[in-house]
Amino acid sequence: MTAIARIDRTAFDHNVRSLINSVSPTPVWIAIKANAYGHGMQELAEVAVSAGAHGLAVLDVPAALSLRSAGVTVPLFVWLHGATTNFAAAIAAGLDIGVSTRAQLDAVATAPGTARVHLKVDTGLHRNGFDVDDWADACRQARSLQDSGHIVVSGIWSHLADTSAEADARARALFSDAVAFATTTVGLTPEYIHLAASSAALSQPESRFSLVRIGIAAYGISPFDDRDGQGLGLRRVMTLTAPVVEVQGETATISAGWADGVPQVASGIARISINGVLRQVTRVDAHHTDVVIGSDGVDIGDEAVLWGQGGPSAEQWADWTGTIGDEIVTSVPTHVRRVSN
Ligand SMILES: *Cc1c(COP(=O)(O)O)cnc(C)c1O
Repeated sequence: MTAIARIDRTAFDHNVRSLINSVSPTPVWIAIKANAYGHGMQELAEVAVSAGAHGLAVLDVPAALSLRSAGVTVPLFVWLHGATTNFAAAIAAGLDIGVSTRAQLDAVATAPGTARVHLKVDTGLHRNGFDVDDWADACRQARSLQDSGHIVVSGIWSHLADTSAEADARARALFSDAVAFATTTVGLTPEYIHLAASSAALSQPESRFSLVRIGIAAYGISPFDDRDGQGLGLRRVMTLTAPVVEVQGETATISAGWADGVPQVASGIARISINGVLRQVTRVDAHHTDVVIGSDGVDIGDEAVLWGQGGPSAEQWADWTGTIGDEIVTSVPTHVRRVSN
């Protein structure tokens, strides 16, 4: 009798189709990093592809290789690399490899085979990418590595901070300049030019370039502060549930706690749904959460919905706990069983 995360594949399918439609005709890569934001990568990767995703933004090489072994043939984008990253395997699997530093460029060029490289320029987020000052040299080096057959520059990309429209506009201008230099001056011919994630893809058509990478919105969670997922026509994909295991006076205890991803800071603030009624959370320990039930009948075995369909939204939990909906769903640990429809 423990917590279960129900994963609604139909809702995810709906969201992916709806998002593809919103940004059409721009192709969409669906981000499935962090185990698909806690939802389960393997399964949702397949749903995303069948719903029409042009590719998948995976994060690291091992995860992408596991998808290739499972028969996923669409472009798989990886951009987080470490000292032990197996670029030879990445190239053999035809992965689209994000490259942020000279060391990575050297590593993919010396690995056997011809690497599909996406050069990243830092447009202000300072979370890796070539510095604007190093961009010219990086492009020229990439051009010479391409001419000698070691790499193909298949993309130029960056990532927005999504902090304000002004900051995004500045980043977009830097990005456009970097793309113009790489193509017009250096003669690179990248197939994919990509900058936008959920927020910019939906709200700034001028940020779409030739591809967008959409993550959180596909899980039914809004990237905006002033609208929730439902307001965007999206459906909740994860529903976290746990049964009532004890009833004492006006308190019911459910068998999910902070070890299962329930934010401890929610005590006294959050509410969860039991039998369709929202109940105030009074305590969260490692394995249990207490709620006030008043005098109406809640019985052992009744199901509580912490968030998702039939309960509060992940965005609501994010508000209560001072974070973003991404963190709420992604923080549900893998030991919590995922049950999908
Ligand atoms: C997480 C991530 C995305 C998706 O971002 P969302 O805001 O969840 O849509 C896209 N691109 C990169 C590089 C990312 O790290």
